[in-house]
Amino acid sequence: MVQEDTITAIATAVGDGGIGIVRLSGAKAVETVEKIFRVSGKKSLSQIKSHVVTYGHIFDPRLGELVDEVLVVVMLAPRSYTKEDVVEIHCHGGAMTLRKILDLTLKAGARLAQPGEFTKRAFLNGRIDLSQAEAVIDVIRAKTDASLKMSVGHLTGVFSEKVIGLRHELLRLIAHLEAAIDFPEDDIDAIATEDVAQSVTGLLSEVENILATAQTGRILRDGLKTVIIGKPNVGKSSLLNALLREKRAIVTEIPGTTRDIIEEYSNFGGVPLRIVDTAGIRETTDIVERIGVEKTWEMLDKADIVLFIMDASVPLSDDDRKILALIKSRKAIVLVNKTDLPEVLERQQIIDLLPEKLIINISALKETGLDELAQAINQLVYSGQVELNEAAFVNNVRHVDIFEDVKYSFCEVINSINAGMSPDFLVIDLRMAWQKLGEITGETVDDDIIDQIFSQFCIGK
Ligand code: GDP
Repeated sequence: MVQEDTITAIATAVGDGGIGIVRLSGAKAVETVEKIFRVSGKKSLSQIKSHVVTYGHIFDPRLGELVDEVLVVVMLAPRSYTKEDVVEIHCHGGAMTLRKILDLTLKAGARLAQPGEFTKRAFLNGRIDLSQAEAVIDVIRAKTDASLKMSVGHLTGVFSEKVIGLRHELLRLIAHLEAAIDFPEDDIDAIATEDVAQSVTGLLSEVENILATAQTGRILRDGLKTVIIGKPNVGKSSLLNALLREKRAIVTEIPGTTRDIIEEYSNFGGVPLRIVDTAGIRETTDIVERIGVEKTWEMLDKADIVLFIMDASVPLSDDDRKILALIKSRKAIVLVNKTDLPEVLERQQIIDLLPEKLIINISALKETGLDELAQAINQLVYSGQVELNEAAFVNNVRHVDIFEDVKYSFCEVINSINAGMSPDFLVIDLRMAWQKLGEITGETVDDDIIDQIFSQFCIGK
């Protein structure tokens, strides 16, 4: 599918930077840039070798004015991101320079790219499949090592290969059954059905295994939504700081109605933690008091894990009891902090109230007990799946929905076989599953789904 237009966009982030890149893709990419680029030595851009960096200047052809000193890279089709001719103009990173150069490429005949259009072209031109294109966003948005590792795995096609393998096996079964339908006298009917029964049972458990990774996949992608609660002065900020010190943390601010909620990401023992409302924690105000019990419930409901901190150097209070009651039915770990001080808190009282909860002794100040905490969280997240390669995890709601449908089809096939239905019925469900799986890789997907996926991208990607 050849795209007619040549598209252009600023490919780097907005704002002042050392360098910025304007990227063009399409049959006329070289021709377009040629109109605004002067190479020293008077060569023209079309005479320059592909995949080589060329020094020169961008100028405004109408005013004859110099705009910037740049490096240009031509990547001729098909050896480029989009499989089309691509030209990148590496200029100085200021917003004004980038705007001006973008504008010149537009005046020279290119069209402004739509969000994700470069990646969409890479998909339409067959360089990557749809799930790989989706992984591009995840790579860009990855906030921790684990999520980056998983996204890169998806990007390089590890996940797609799994899906392609499943589809391949389905086609084999369909062909087998269709032969049985076409030549009923050959008695391959019974053999085919037997083969399908065995094979689909295997495929079903494969799909169930994939679905079982969805929770972990989501956590690796989005981070384990972590809420830290406890009375004032128990050491919430100190723990937060200790968690964030572990690895480079990334802070994002979510504009809220009353004030900004701040989340921070930390890679803690291999699990990406997304710690919610860190501003609140840092203000060292009592979360329960400050945002009201109802709001606290809401927040706790949305959390993947609650870390409840208590102070070992003071006795259990009514407030502690209240919070303990609040976290009783949730995924929570009780942290007894300040264990470096003489102990006053009676642990048995906690055990009596919450017999099932894990209690871990820590000292946020001396940073002890953190390994045990990391282990506990790890266990909770991976729940025995550590041996799986992250790249094989399903981490995308769209994919999860598709696998659910496929699972349903497989169950239907097995039911039909048990009910002694004819091979025609089995073929219908197997085809349905084959079709559905093709929506992951993009072979059998509607245009509006494709558009919807790429609309989530930023312009320039
Ligand atoms: P928050 O109000 O719950 O956020 O508590 P902070 O983290 O601000 O800590 C309150 C006080 O307790 C500070 O003076 C900390 O230095 C101290 N603190 C925190 N963790 C520990 C610990 O493990 N041991 C000791 N001895 N003091 C701690």
